[in-house]
Amino acid sequence: MTDLNVPLALDEIGAPHSASGEEVWTHDLSGVAPPARPARRWTPKRVVATPPAYDHPHGLRIMARLEALGLEVERLKTARLTGVRGENDRQTYARAKSTLAVVVSPPSRRKLQPIAPSADWRVDLAEGCPAHCQYCYLAGSLSGPPVTRVYADLDDILDGLADYVGQGRVTSRRAARRDEGTTFEASCYTDPLALDHLTGSWQRAVEHFGAWDAPVQLRWTTKFGDVDAFAGLAHHGRTRVRLSVNCLPVTTRMEGGTSPLAERIAALRTLALDGYAVGLTIAPIMPVDGWREHYGELLDAVAAAVDGVPGLDLTAELITHRFTPGSKEVLLGWYPRTRLEMDEETRSRKRGKFGAVKYVYPPDVMASLRGWFSSEIAARLPACRILYWT
Ligand code: SF4
Repeated sequence: MTDLNVPLALDEIGAPHSASGEEVWTHDLSGVAPPARPARRWTPKRVVATPPAYDHPHGLRIMARLEALGLEVERLKTARLTGVRGENDRQTYARAKSTLAVVVSPPSRRKLQPIAPSADWRVDLAEGCPAHCQYCYLAGSLSGPPVTRVYADLDDILDGLADYVGQGRVTSRRAARRDEGTTFEASCYTDPLALDHLTGSWQRAVEHFGAWDAPVQLRWTTKFGDVDAFAGLAHHGRTRVRLSVNCLPVTTRMEGGTSPLAERIAALRTLALDGYAVGLTIAPIMPVDGWREHYGELLDAVAAAVDGVPGLDLTAELITHRFTPGSKEVLLGWYPRTRLEMDEETRSRKRGKFGAVKYVYPPDVMASLRGWFSSEIAARLPACRILYWT
């Protein structure tokens, strides 16, 4: 039995989720390796909706969209979902990962949390992700079977954001980004473009911010290149889309079910030409063999993609790889043959804000990575502003 009213990802802070720079707890789901998936638009095998989802206009819009795609929506009697548990953890995981639930957001998700360094506030439009990145910290932070939940009460969620404008702690790092206004990060527990073709939620959020004449910015990051539906929306420059990218040895070996790097970079150009503020989330940065050459090729490909874009507004967020004892155990359970390096002996041990242990690269490796990215981004992408390094 899976209670769809319970948030999927635990709320405490522990280890960073590479896609957003967020810090989340890890949780043991070892032994449930998901299968590798070819990159394509996700089609869930099973779609369910809870009764309150039918009371919200956006819930009905999602269901109409799903039905137009030929997907049957199963109306549940309560928020309790059965039929997900399989004979073993692996089967349960696979069933959950191919299930989409249309639900009303849990109350804890409606009270926004700060999410430094990415943004002032985290706003959730969904939870769960059908992709299979071998380093995903989200994968290790789940409270139960990872059924992807999409929120039917989107209109209420977006209307509630006005209460947070101008709120939040101004750090020195944030002060340097004051021109962005109050920022809302909408990709913490999911990848927006893995789901937007099924929900339209992020398109609607972009239009909401576009119509909101205030110093605000919507932000989200994605590993998918499916952006055609976003070109031409009335965004009025109040959305920054970051493409989550990495060097080819990482994207091709460790990011199952996401779009190929070339498609993400093409999407960056499409959005930039449409006047969006755009960005790169380069994460997780890893000193793989030949990393200077590989990351150099990445930066050159981005430079070619943004060449000649009028009024380009491009940023970079740089996040190095780290792991916790819990996330390592979970990820090795899922991906026993992974080439992801998680060797405590070669790492520095650090304690996070709440005492959780994490392993990061040692200071000399960090310094060499940081120095290289700072100087090469300045040289190869002079228009790009680095927002933070972590
Ligand atoms: S795309 Fe999905 S699986 Fe990959 S890091 Fe992001 S949330 Fe995790």
